[in-house]
Amino acid sequence: MDLYNKIIAGPCSAETEEQVMETAKQLHDIGIKIFRAGAWKPRTKPGQFEGNGSKALQWMKKAKDTYGLKLATEIATPEHVKLARLYDIDYIWIGARTTTDPFAVQEIADFLNLRGEWKVYWEYFDKIYVKNPVSPDIELWIGAIQRLLKAGVPANKIGAIHRGFCLYDNSVYRNVPMWQISQEFHKRLPEIELICDPSHISGKRDLIAPICQQAINLGYDGLMIESHCNPDKAWTDAKQQITPDVLKYIIDNIHNKPNNNEKAISQLAEYRDQIDRADNKILYALADRLKICKKIGKLKKENNLTVFQPDRYNQVLNHFVENGSLLGLDKELTTQIFNDIHEESVHEQIEIVE
Ligand code: PEP
Ligand code: MN
Repeated sequence: MDLYNKIIAGPCSAETEEQVMETAKQLHDIGIKIFRAGAWKPRTKPGQFEGNGSKALQWMKKAKDTYGLKLATEIATPEHVKLARLYDIDYIWIGARTTTDPFAVQEIADFLNLRGEWKVYWEYFDKIYVKNPVSPDIELWIGAIQRLLKAGVPANKIGAIHRGFCLYDNSVYRNVPMWQISQEFHKRLPEIELICDPSHISGKRDLIAPICQQAINLGYDGLMIESHCNPDKAWTDAKQQITPDVLKYIIDNIHNKPNNNEKAISQLAEYRDQIDRADNKILYALADRLKICKKIGKLKKENNLTVFQPDRYNQVLNHFVENGSLLGLDKELTTQIFNDIHEESVHEQIEIVE
């Protein structure tokens, strides 16, 4: 597999003509074929850089004419699609925030099926990608693809980009990958090309290589990676952008792991058996615990005792977390697990008592 044919790379935003041309040159020199840059930037807060609009597209067109690169950019409205066509953009994508809005997606889908100067709009583009919505809602993601299909865009013109999901509480990733969601997406829409965006998943440079490797191991069709000629000075997403040199190093070190080491495969099967047995133990322990809770619920009902007793809760929580810590378990993890278990127990008891 020639990875260089499967990578879309370029800066988060098209900042200036010099930055676009310099980054495009360096990416072309390492063998990249598709150049991305944002012309309209959906920012969380007002007052930040929101993109250079059609000026950015002009610079990108110049990069295309100079280096023979294909172009990719984010669009959020029919007007953006029109301009993307005007400036000869080859690939467009609906961003993660836009995918959350069915009205916006529908408007884009309807527009793509209108006739332009010579062709129906979708025919002007090599591919129309849909990023996953910011929240982990697979139906919304699939729904956006269905809107395009229903409006008449053929499946081979549609792709999906997995860029991770925003959760309130995550420490390592900027957007948690939740690979199971993209795997489910692929199962349900196998005909739709699926690529991964490690930059927005990781949010920082040092996680990009392992996420690229993981995506390739999982069989993704390609990668979209943010790359900038001077990442530290980037106007948007500075922490996650890498130089074209580093990008080349990462791509050249991605390997296709062959699954043909029989000894390792049988050892893996044994470990997986052990994991299954450990999971079963957890399930039996949970079921046992719940049975006891129900008995307590009955006792409380018969004796008019309150369900939730904060002192007892704190005591059991501390015990759980401290014991877990002695066993080498992370305190945050055990606190979270205990709270989930406790919430379910309280819920069960309330059903009995009331
Ligand atoms: C981007 O690609 O720069 C971008 C804004 O991505 P997302 O829509 O995934 O946040
Ligand atoms: Mn970005």
